[in-house]
Amino acid sequence: MKCNIIIIAAFLFSQFAMAQTPDAKMKTFVDALMKKMTLDEKIGQLNLPGSGDIVTGQASNSDIGKKIKEGKVGGLFNIKSLEKIKAVQKVAVEESRLKIPLLFGMDVIHGYETVFPIPLALSCSWDMKAIERSAQIAASEASADGISWTFSPMVDIARDPRWGRIAEGNGEDAYLGSQIARAMVKGYQGDLSKNNNIMACVKHYALYGAAEAGRDYNTTDMSLTRMFNEYLPPYKAAVDAGAGSVMASFNDINGVPATANKFLMTDVLRKQWGFKGFVVTDYTGINELQAHGLGDLKTVSALALNAGIHMDMVGEGFLTTLKKSLSEGKVTQQQIENACRLILEAKYKLGLFDNPYKYCDENRAKTEIFTDANRKEARKIAADCFVLLRNQNNTLPLKKSGTIAVIGPLADSKENMPGTWSVAANFSKATSLLSGLKEVAGNNTKFLYAKGSNLDADPAFEQRATMFGKTLQRDNRPAADIIAEAVNIANQSDVIVAALGEAAEMTGEASSRTNLDIPEAQKDLLKALLKTGKPVVLVLFTGRPLTIKWENDNVPAILNVWFGGSEAGYAVADVLFGDVNPSGKLTTTWPQNVGQVPLYYNHKMTGRPLAEGKWFQKFQSNYLDVSNDPVYPFGYGLSYTSFSYSDIKLSSSSLKGNQTLTASVTVTNTGNKDGKEVVQLYIRDVVGTNSRPLKELKGFQKIELKAGESKTVSFNITTVDLKYYNTDLKYDWEPGEFHIMIGGNSKDVKLAKVDWVK
Ligand code: BGC
Repeated sequence: MKCNIIIIAAFLFSQFAMAQTPDAKMKTFVDALMKKMTLDEKIGQLNLPGSGDIVTGQASNSDIGKKIKEGKVGGLFNIKSLEKIKAVQKVAVEESRLKIPLLFGMDVIHGYETVFPIPLALSCSWDMKAIERSAQIAASEASADGISWTFSPMVDIARDPRWGRIAEGNGEDAYLGSQIARAMVKGYQGDLSKNNNIMACVKHYALYGAAEAGRDYNTTDMSLTRMFNEYLPPYKAAVDAGAGSVMASFNDINGVPATANKFLMTDVLRKQWGFKGFVVTDYTGINELQAHGLGDLKTVSALALNAGIHMDMVGEGFLTTLKKSLSEGKVTQQQIENACRLILEAKYKLGLFDNPYKYCDENRAKTEIFTDANRKEARKIAADCFVLLRNQNNTLPLKKSGTIAVIGPLADSKENMPGTWSVAANFSKATSLLSGLKEVAGNNTKFLYAKGSNLDADPAFEQRATMFGKTLQRDNRPAADIIAEAVNIANQSDVIVAALGEAAEMTGEASSRTNLDIPEAQKDLLKALLKTGKPVVLVLFTGRPLTIKWENDNVPAILNVWFGGSEAGYAVADVLFGDVNPSGKLTTTWPQNVGQVPLYYNHKMTGRPLAEGKWFQKFQSNYLDVSNDPVYPFGYGLSYTSFSYSDIKLSSSSLKGNQTLTASVTVTNTGNKDGKEVVQLYIRDVVGTNSRPLKELKGFQKIELKAGESKTVSFNITTVDLKYYNTDLKYDWEPGEFHIMIGGNSKDVKLAKVDWVK
């Protein structure tokens, strides 16, 4: 009888379990696990230490190994190699009391070993499918090597090119940034039950890109309307797309550093946006609250937990102080439990409790990383990110014949091709520009090479700008001799390709600059090359908008290639030789000089706007010494063909309530080459309760047109596109006049007007 009851109970329980939703099942599992956990073990899950001391074969004996056995580690990051990760996971699941698997994170920012262009470059493709695909490939390679969690996407809006980390984001526009955030999260996470998808971590929440004066880690102070309209949307888009985790930013926001900012972490992120995942600090983010002036380590650790932080990267403030804070009533048991639950849930969602070695498939590690197929995709995507800034007299494309002089400090560097934040890249496998050109051109073209100049005249600067193994062999001869050698080979050639600009580590973290010119030593070289009278093509390497007004006025062709990843050498060659027609469009405004910064397309009118096409007018909003214009506006980029736009056709010019407006243009390829064009829709809310931007991007379509072909491009506009946060943070639209603008960049647009009443 007793036996029967047990059988029936077991049957009923299994039926109940079967009927449970996935969320309820997860809760049952996590509840049961947490019942077994001590307070120390719960706090241990919140700890994400640095993993510097793990070397192959030492996982168990290392200091980290000891902590893992004691249940004091929730995850580790930036360990590269399946072998090491497997060994460490083994310690967790075989030698710790509760056998809880670890998360393995990494900064997989723009690819793993197959490196894609830096994020700022990727954004210039305006191709959401390609961006999603790049994240998918990154996830598939990283997961084949043991990684389950990436610290990406970075979606910080940045309008200040002095800030080095502008390279890691998607530019200055919140609408485009939101689309990209969504595509990246989808690409990384896809279906998390599979072993080739990994968890995303949207960062750096929030407003890191608005650091004062573009100086890294600096203070941010911003009105709430600007915050909600212009900076927060991409983070929200990533959360809405299901990002599993969020990383807090380093900076102080309106007086409270993000890591201790309850308004951002709890009120906005969890309560308003309904975020269900966990929040990790940035590297030593909690410890840095001490330098911010918020108290000692115990105090700031409690502040962070109270604010809504769940995992502590590197600093071990949680690990070493939370128990004491609990006994003193500074934090609650509930807060610790909640944080621990969120970390365990992430592991559960990734399937690590079912199989801690889910991402440790040796066969995958051998066959799915840096594959020909992935490299092919990276090359194709890279070519679509380059922006043709200038092409006087069709200097480009080049012919695959004659003699080409390839000159410049960046012309023959493999190490600098992947760009900043390429943690997993194998630099020796990247292709330099010179090698890529030679391979793509074939045997009919002769190449001559000279370095022509150092990166910078100052060796100390050059050292700071070429860290992390991305060295450039310094030439210690006098600058004049190095230039003379280059001029000599330039004189023997038909055309000069000058590979100049920034080295990869001149942008990225802690790489802010106050001078955004191409370094003087390289400019001297460029001037000497122009003097030869040969056609010069400037292949510009950069991770930020540079101030290149002089170059724009004097160099016949400029192709901005950013840092295009491991395959960039080939991709640049594909574009230079015209196998690919460039189609990238800038996602940042390029200023004339640093004094204009911040300069962005979606600015306000002011009460004294400068008249269209004017420069100086006394008592208007402008400068004495330079016009308000950028060198290149947001959305700008040329092609080897040309496009014309018809006037805008509207479905109606007066609308009411929730009607939909359709705005169409016919775009014609008026040149003699097939090409791609990014058709951009901007809207201006002419009269509002608040002053409104001059124009805001509200849609775009990347289309392909054969030479001579025309296509009609239509945008459906609803009142959702008209909404904004007013001073009371009410998100709504207001009736009145709206300008609808469509064009190939933010400056050259067709205009139509509508009235929209409630
Ligand atoms: C950066 C983050 C990065 C983290 C881990 C920090 O210095 O700000 O973007 O994810 O390091 O490497």
